[in-house]
Amino acid sequence: MLPIPPRPDAAERAAILDELTEEYPCLSRSTLGRSVLGREIPLLRLGEGGTHLLYVGAHHGAEGMTAAFLLRFLSELLSARRSGRSVEGVDPAFLLSVRTLWIVPALNPDGVELVERGILSAGFLSERILRMNGGSDDLSTWQANARGVDLNHNYDAGFRAYKGVEASLGVLGGGPTRYSGDYPESEPETAALARFVRSVPLSLILSLHTQGREIYFTSEGRALKGQFAVAARFAAMTGYRVSQPSGAAAYGGLTDWAVGRLGIPCFTVECGEGKNPLPPERFAPAYGEIRPLLFRAPLYASPQTGEKRPTGEGTDEHRGL
Ligand SMILES: [Zn+2]
Repeated sequence: MLPIPPRPDAAERAAILDELTEEYPCLSRSTLGRSVLGREIPLLRLGEGGTHLLYVGAHHGAEGMTAAFLLRFLSELLSARRSGRSVEGVDPAFLLSVRTLWIVPALNPDGVELVERGILSAGFLSERILRMNGGSDDLSTWQANARGVDLNHNYDAGFRAYKGVEASLGVLGGGPTRYSGDYPESEPETAALARFVRSVPLSLILSLHTQGREIYFTSEGRALKGQFAVAARFAAMTGYRVSQPSGAAAYGGLTDWAVGRLGIPCFTVECGEGKNPLPPERFAPAYGEIRPLLFRAPLYASPQTGEKRPTGEGTDEHRGL
């Protein structure tokens, strides 16, 4: 199995993809788009099925480990298919004959690079980023992209309502976390992903974050028909809690948008536990927890799972932040 660093930087991720695509010609690699600083955002495609799923990692800079989870998963899946082994009770050959998997290991390559490689990775934006970071060059917990926009608040779901929440949190412009941007999809990273999501008939999306061992799947407290039952199965596989977002976490995320606006079942998975960025030793336990989910989630995707509008099946229960 290909060695995968627990928190790979852009060059390491690219090298892993080079090796995987060379070893497995069935893995198709293209470019989803480019980041603010011009970094490529790779998009992988695997499988020939008519039911499509998307797995996305690293919306947030300090959550680069999620890219490693997805690369490890890809590597395991490809290797198991070649050798005819089942993984987590799933036969990869069968799975990939009935499903097509799309994978974006790292949506926010600039943010991950700031955390992993520091301010020197920021190029022409370094001075602006230092200002947005209060003058400090400690970027170890930076979550936003290179313009200080939190990508998981930049989707078109509750955007206007979030502006009030943002102001009450004292977030008035670009910064390390929580700033939603000037308008939905203002950032090249979210615009590219949103364009992709609108163009492919997706039946299920997993958005990987760290940390908290929780699964979110509602949009403004509502979910799609059948989504509660699926979330409960995902919770049972991983040992994670099913939660409802509240406060700032409840607006503008990929899950809010995909579920609330597009009717695509989408699940935010907060992998592992600890403090972001998770230290390398957290990789193995966290990957072990989500591995069954990564392999089995495709079995829960079908064109029938999505309905075009959320039902009132959710509750108004809210957790504290
Ligand atoms: Zn996150």
